Amino acid sequence: MELPVVNHPDYVAKINDDNKFPIKKFGALAEYLINKNIVKKFYIPKECSVDTLKTSHSIKYIENIKNKTLDIKLQKKIGFPINDSVVRRSFVATGGTVLASKLAMDFKLACNTAGGSHHATYDFGAGYCVFNDVAVAANYLKNKKYAKNILIIDLDVHQGNGNSEIFKNDKDVLTFSMHCTSNYPAKKSLSDIDIELRDNMEDKEYINILKKNITVLNQYKFDAVFYVAGVDVHFNDRLGKLKLTDEGVNLRDQIVIENFFSKKIPLCGVLGGGYNKEFKKLVELHSLLHKNCAKML
Ligand SMILES: [Zn+2]
Repeated sequence: MELPVVNHPDYVAKINDDNKFPIKKFGALAEYLINKNIVKKFYIPKECSVDTLKTSHSIKYIENIKNKTLDIKLQKKIGFPINDSVVRRSFVATGGTVLASKLAMDFKLACNTAGGSHHATYDFGAGYCVFNDVAVAANYLKNKKYAKNILIIDLDVHQGNGNSEIFKNDKDVLTFSMHCTSNYPAKKSLSDIDIELRDNMEDKEYINILKKNITVLNQYKFDAVFYVAGVDVHFNDRLGKLKLTDEGVNLRDQIVIENFFSKKIPLCGVLGGGYNKEFKKLVELHSLLHKNCAKML
């Protein structure tokens, strides 16, 4: 069976070239997945509806994005200009994770080629995250009764503070974040489980900590899992402070995906962050998520 992967050309928003965010990676990743025969054809998402978005965001915030009326200070907090293209991208990438989550329920595994905007919270965005796609999709699965007990396993180098904020009073969604202590955000939120890592941690220690925690997570019962597979844990990342090698990132993805797949728990994989100094490497690292999922099917 072929891995269902969701992609839309509009994931590549038009922003100034001097913006530090490597927005072109979404297009390059889609191309890479096709060229390497990991994916033959993408599922095309629709824009996420306001009804679906408002399960996780305030109407005021959604409208400020939709109408491009967001205060300039709040735009700066996000790091993207709120222009037509960024607005379109924010709605369609969130729709992408919602679609991928539905596909995961049907096929046990599915991925988006974007998503993991884990710094966005109820009434504001931050750190290159406009809408919290994973939170929206998790609430979607719950409201549609496709799943009740949901895990968000977030291995991006930065804490998934938006997820923990949105679900802090929700006992059905367990937020797990394993991140570097000294990385953004300076003020951490409280996830159900936070694992803080010291600077410069290498493969072996990281993988050992991950394995121990997977054992802990396996004591719970989940109907669905969201995996935020940020590759900013790589040693050559501009923003991360850990020292994982290519093999380390690959092994990490493999461990997570195999664990839940072997237990027949549907897993929806999303990209998370990645700011590698080498663009080609960045795309290759992001593709490990899809490659390791495809291998299972
Ligand atoms: Zn990150």
